[in-house]
Amino acid sequence: MKVKKYVVKDVREAMRMIKEELGDDAVILNTRKIKKGGFFGLGAKTYFEVTAVVEDENKNKKVEKPKAVSREDIYKLQEILMKNRMSRQMQSQPSGISPSPMIAPPSRSVEEELMKIKDMISELKSMVVSGKNEMPPGIRTVVNGMRRQEIDNDVITKVTEYLRITYGDVDPEAKEFKYKLAEYLVPFIKTEEANLSGRILFVGPTGVGKTTTLAKIAAKLKLELKKSVAILTFDTYRIAAADQLKTYASIMDIPIRVAYTPQEAGMALNAMIDYETILMDTAGRSQKNDIQMGELKVIVDMVKPDKIFLVLGMNYRLLDVKEIIRKFKMVNPTHVILTKMDETSSYGHFINVPLHSDLPIIYVTNGQRVPEDIFEANSVELSKILANGVLENV
Ligand code: GDP
Repeated sequence: MKVKKYVVKDVREAMRMIKEELGDDAVILNTRKIKKGGFFGLGAKTYFEVTAVVEDENKNKKVEKPKAVSREDIYKLQEILMKNRMSRQMQSQPSGISPSPMIAPPSRSVEEELMKIKDMISELKSMVVSGKNEMPPGIRTVVNGMRRQEIDNDVITKVTEYLRITYGDVDPEAKEFKYKLAEYLVPFIKTEEANLSGRILFVGPTGVGKTTTLAKIAAKLKLELKKSVAILTFDTYRIAAADQLKTYASIMDIPIRVAYTPQEAGMALNAMIDYETILMDTAGRSQKNDIQMGELKVIVDMVKPDKIFLVLGMNYRLLDVKEIIRKFKMVNPTHVILTKMDETSSYGHFINVPLHSDLPIIYVTNGQRVPEDIFEANSVELSKILANGVLENV
């Protein structure tokens, strides 16, 4: 496995370099923004650090054509076979009888046998080569694009089978194909229109963007939809988190309470009974920490939320996403919010997350700005973004 980091000005540049250097089978592991240059942070330029991996270097090497077997090779092989046969005969002969020093000329049957073996070898080699090339070139490009987008392997197989059966091969550069692919991907992307009334609890790993996303949704409810909304936070691990939320709440003129104990939470909820929506923030939980997860379960049992939004980062690896989903299942989330779309160029999680959680995506966030950087998830729109990603740089 070969892992390589690229620092580039734009992600497309990295994709091109990765394709050139690591080949079509390379997969992007991570993309993050970094600042370089400048003086004490001033004038620093934004770059992307893209980490790519390719499983097996040999995969990218050209498949060598079977080397033709020359007549000399055949005679050499025949000679070896004859020597072997003679030495075996010598061992089995009674002692005292010396074998003939002359090597007998190769019999016709040995030559025929060798030719047969030669044919078999080249047939096997051609099977390997055609096996590799079996995938029509257009579809192979699409498959590589889906891998770059880190779409779940089972879905890649389904899409590939569908394309092969329906089209034989495809032209990945054709505009109509992009529409067709997007259309086909729609059912794999489960989304739901957000109904934001009642008690809504935000859960998820640390730093994923729960507090920021809650503030964005609070602003939408209060300023755009003119709804009555209140905030309750349990994020008492980080002093800054509650302060940050208090600042947002005071700017938007939204009441906010901080609960340190279950009794305080109960009192706060009673005081907020007249509000149409109560958005509740929790401290980030590490899915690996069972105590933290247990505490979260206590909060859930206590506040009895109407909805639980599991917040997941688009920049997480699929393996981590699966583990987070598995661990947070204990609090029965009802919806998913995907954050930090702006920090990645792979959008496979639009499919992977509903597939592994069986939950619909309701929002996607794409930046740090409150309240602008959020949009409602819509499977048709998300499928277009994903299809664009799959067919980028073809
Ligand atoms: P929490 O620990 O889950 O509550 O996460 P926070 O809301 O405190 O966010 C952690 C960091 O992620 C902050 O610096 C946010 O500004 C940032 N953040 C949140 N959402 C996004 C997003 O959509 N894109 C980017 N680039 N950053 C985000």
